[in-house]
Amino acid sequence: MELIESYLTNNPCYKANAQTADSRYAVFQARGPLGLMLHSVGCAQPRAEVFCKNWNREDYNQACVHAFIDAKTGAIRQTLPWNYRGWHCGGSGNDSHIGVELCESDAIRYTGGANFTVLNRNTALADCKRSYEAAVELFAFLCGKYGLDPKSAICSHREGGAQGIASGHVDPEHYWTGLGAPYTMDRFRAEVEARLNHNTAPQEGRIYRIQVGAFRNRAYAEAYLRQVQAHFPEAFLKAEAL
Ligand SMILES: [Zn+2]
Repeated sequence: MELIESYLTNNPCYKANAQTADSRYAVFQARGPLGLMLHSVGCAQPRAEVFCKNWNREDYNQACVHAFIDAKTGAIRQTLPWNYRGWHCGGSGNDSHIGVELCESDAIRYTGGANFTVLNRNTALADCKRSYEAAVELFAFLCGKYGLDPKSAICSHREGGAQGIASGHVDPEHYWTGLGAPYTMDRFRAEVEARLNHNTAPQEGRIYRIQVGAFRNRAYAEAYLRQVQAHFPEAFLKAEAL
C-alpha cells in the first residue's frame, strides 16, 4: 500500500477540525470513525494530485474527504487525518464515517449526470481495477486500525443515501456498472474482510517484538521505561545477560 500524506491544510474543513469548530469535530477526533464510506469522483480525472491541488484552497468550501486513490498508480493520497471529521457525503455520515474517493479513468467521457461513454475499455478497466484493489487494502488497514467489521461498517455513498445518512448520489456503483466492471459493494466488503483476516492471522512459529531502547544501566532503563509507558502502558523491561 502506497500512502502519501497530502493534507488539505487550506481547506475550510481541515481548519474547522484544527480549531475544533464545534462538538461534532471534537467527538469525531476523540472517538475516531465508526464506519468507512467509499466514493468515486464522478468525473474523468484519474490523478489524485489534481484533486489535492484543487481542493487545497481556502475558498473550496464544498467538500473535503480523507483520501483520493489514484487510478493510474493505485497510490493513496491521504488528505485529512483519519480522526478528522470530513465533509464528504452531505449527511450525518460525516459525523461517523471516513470518506475515500476512487479517482476515475480518463478513458471515459461523462455525457450528463452519472452517464458516461467508454472511450477505451481496456484502459478504463485497468484504471478501475487499480483503484479498486488499492481501496481494498486501505479499507482493510482502516478496519484493523479502528476495530471495524467490514460487513457492517463499510458502505458506498449510494448505500449511505439509501440508509438516510448521505445525500442521494450513485457513486461508486455507477462507475463500476457503467464500465461493465465485475465489482459490487458486497464483493468489496468480502474482499476487505479476507484481506483483514490475512493481515491479522498469526504466522506460524514467529513472534514480532518491538524494542525501543537498550541500556547497560538499570536506572536509565527504568527511567526510559516510564517515559514509554506514558504512551504505551503495556511496555515492559526485560534484563538479559550479554
Ligand atoms: Zn460520493
